[in-house]
Amino acid sequence: MARIYTLVNQKGGVGKTTTAINLGAFLAKHGQRVLIVDIDPQANATSCLGIDKHEVEKSSYQALLGDDAPESLVLKNERLNLSLLPSSPALAGAEVELVNELGRETRLKKALSKLEGDYDYILLDCPPSLGLLTINGLMAAQDGVIIPVQCEYLALEGLGQLTQTIQQVRSALFPDLRVSGVVLTMFDSRTNLSNDVVAEVNNHFPELVFDAIIPRSVRLAEAPSYGLPISEYAPNSVGAKAYNALAKEILARDA
Ligand code: ATP
Ligand code: MG
Repeated sequence: MARIYTLVNQKGGVGKTTTAINLGAFLAKHGQRVLIVDIDPQANATSCLGIDKHEVEKSSYQALLGDDAPESLVLKNERLNLSLLPSSPALAGAEVELVNELGRETRLKKALSKLEGDYDYILLDCPPSLGLLTINGLMAAQDGVIIPVQCEYLALEGLGQLTQTIQQVRSALFPDLRVSGVVLTMFDSRTNLSNDVVAEVNNHFPELVFDAIIPRSVRLAEAPSYGLPISEYAPNSVGAKAYNALAKEILARDA
């Protein structure tokens, strides 16, 4: 059965998608069968893997609201050995459409239960909000959530709200939901600020911060425009090394 991790932080632009794609790509390089699930209507993870979201006919929208067989929604990138359950602009309506559905919080979990036998890792990329899409992401996070935190001023801002949502989901629906780890992203060794944030986040989440710290790297920002993960676009870059280290850390922990 697959390990299922959800990348979550309602703050925008902190590296959720970049981490989902590149962590996924390196897990695949280490021989794992990986599925990335894009549940963000922005469909950035889908675009980052070179797929035009406007051409996507079936997406995580169908996984949430349709009765298609979930395996029929998955796109396989043979070269990268990576599978994707894509997003599409249709997903923007799902948040509202789900409201009156039965089992609205567990639609995704249900769909993934039909897929988890086919993968070693399933990584969910959430939108920057705490609405029903993200709640579906949390409910499906069998092995926990991974929180990317950007090394910048006010890094911890808003994390209280996230912690509160996780707590609410725990007490209402999913007592075993856990925070599996915190990934520090966009670290800039030249600034004192980045170092301060590392200390602060370690303080706030003792034992939970991954050793692998993701540096700010132009290569990481460029790779999506080529539709490639960093493992293919710039395999020797510092960003690639950092995401490989993160993948190895997770593999070691899960072993
Ligand atoms: P959203 O909340 O909008 O979904 P996100 O949390 O998924 O955003 P990303 O899309 O991964 O964040 O990253 C935001 C921007 O920062 C993107 O343009 C991405 O290419 C860039 N970026 C992410 N990580 C790095 C990094 N380590 N170095 C440089 N640029 C980065
Ligand atoms: Mg994103």
